[in-house]
Formats: sequence, structure tokens, C-alpha cells
Amino acid sequence: MKTQTLLSRASPLGAPLNIVKQTFPAHRGKPVQRVSFVSGLHGDEFEGLYLCHRLIQALRQIQETQPEVFKGEVHIVPAANPPALNQGTRLWPFYGSDINRMMGPHPGASIPVQMSREIFNNLKESSDLVVDIHASNLHLKELPQIRIIEEFSEELLPLALQTHTDIVWIHPMAGVFESTLGYNLNKLNIPTLVIETGTGLRIEPDFVDRLFHGMMRLLHHQGVLASLPSDIPSTPIPQVVYPRGVAQTSAKHSGLFVSQASLGQRVGEDEIIGQVLDPVRGVVLEEVTAPGNGLLFTLREQPAVHSGTLLARVALDREPKP
Ligand SMILES: [Zn+2]
Repeated sequence: MKTQTLLSRASPLGAPLNIVKQTFPAHRGKPVQRVSFVSGLHGDEFEGLYLCHRLIQALRQIQETQPEVFKGEVHIVPAANPPALNQGTRLWPFYGSDINRMMGPHPGASIPVQMSREIFNNLKESSDLVVDIHASNLHLKELPQIRIIEEFSEELLPLALQTHTDIVWIHPMAGVFESTLGYNLNKLNIPTLVIETGTGLRIEPDFVDRLFHGMMRLLHHQGVLASLPSDIPSTPIPQVVYPRGVAQTSAKHSGLFVSQASLGQRVGEDEIIGQVLDPVRGVVLEEVTAPGNGLLFTLREQPAVHSGTLLARVALDREPKP
């Protein structure tokens, strides 16, 4: 394993801000493919750091015992936004910058801009395939899923199907994606899978376990690893959902949401999945019901809700007729 510092800048107190990349080169000759994993672009998302840890640990062991298995090259950037990760905040402290909203062409020369530019250029030059790992925010918990913008689905769906996510969600483009790492690399024909899993500032070991198996399967499928350790189980095929295949339910009242369902459970249309309460008056304001038959893959985690707050998403067993 080769350790490289992508970029180093002094911080106000002198300790350097370093972005570190770990590389596992091909055993011999030109790599069949170069795959990069990046996590921690948002400093309140730790699921990806744990996933990178699992990958580094497993790949290092393979390299030490069977180096000939490496036919391709793997790069891992586990902590892409060190100052935000140190504080557990989504944004780069002081500047308040979201470095996953300044990828691709972006003006300015502040340290967050320099760092996002360096991460982007480095991944662009050293990767044939990128996996960008995110967690959900503090408000929602998500089953492991890959999200694909419709225009890239032809290229990305076959890759996404090799991973161990529960859901592959193909969704329309929105302006908010224009300056993300995933969108800009895909635009340059470097296939980039974006993972969402778990919740902010937490680690769901079971979800990461499944993603770890899925990422190892992906490396094997792409020919980067000629074989896999025997303890990596085979992966079930994810459920693919298109925009009309996702139904959601929102709060009709402001209050406390108390869930009666668990993430990953199959629900039936109109099945009660929780309540919104008025804790001051001691009354139930509404019974929250599932918006359709299918897999509950998003669930509200933070109980304080306002009218209109998203409470749950279901991947429908059957798309509604137009
Ligand atoms: Zn994120």
C-alpha cells in the first residue's frame, strides 16, 4: 500500500490539513482498471470512513498474502474533508463551504476551493471508475442505496447492480447536482457511483458490512481483483426504482413523529408506520400510513417535524400507471 498526501495546507494553529490517499497498485504491468473510493466530502458523514477502513484492511491483507490477485489499481481517499470531519459538520468550518457543491469548473481560490479542485483533478486523472460514499443527514435514515441521475443510467446501472445495496434509485437531474463530484466526473465519462446510506454522525455497522461485500464484489466483477477471499458472500440483486416507483409520505401536522416501523421492512399501502403527536396537549394529531406496497427505505430519524416534513419513502413493488 502506498500512502500519498494529495494536498497539505497549514491550519491557523499550525497542524497541517492533509488529504491522504492510499493506493494498491496492480501486481504486474498495466492495471486492467483503476477504481477510486472517496468518502467524507461532508464532515458529518462517517459511514463512508468506516467502509474505507474495511476496504483498506481487506485489500492490505490480500496484498500481503496474495499480491498476484491485484490485476487492477485501487485508490482510497477515506477522509476528503478533514477540517469538517474533525468538527462533525457537513460544511467546511469558517468558510461554510460545501465542497461537494464546488466540483468541476468553480471560481475562487479559497482553501476549500483549492482542496475540492485537487480532489477532483486527482480522481479524474487516476480513475476509470469512482465510488463516492455519502451518508444521509441527521434527519433521515436510509437503507444502503446507489443514486443515479437518469442521463447516466445506461452506463451506471450495470455497475450498480454488482454492489450490495438494497436499492438503486434512478432519478431526474436537478440543479443541485451540477457542481457535485459525481455529476462532473460522469459528464467526463468517468463512471461514478454515488452511495447514500445510514444517517448523519452515526455508523450502522450492518449496512457498512453489506456495502463492504458489495464493493469487493464490484472490484472482482471489474477484474481489479482476480479472486475474492472466501468470506465475502455473494450479493443479492438490488431493487431498481425509477422516479414513479418511489412514493413518499409527509407530515400533515407539526409535532413529534414517533415511528412504529423499521427501516428495511416491507409495508402495505395504508399500513400505520407511526404517529405525529402534540406532546404539550397530549393528543395524537395523525396516524402516519405507508404510501404504497413495497420496501421502506427512508425513515425520519429526528422526531421534531413540521407540516410537510418528509417522514418515509417506499420503493414500490409496482409502479403506478401513468
Ligand atoms: Zn454527503
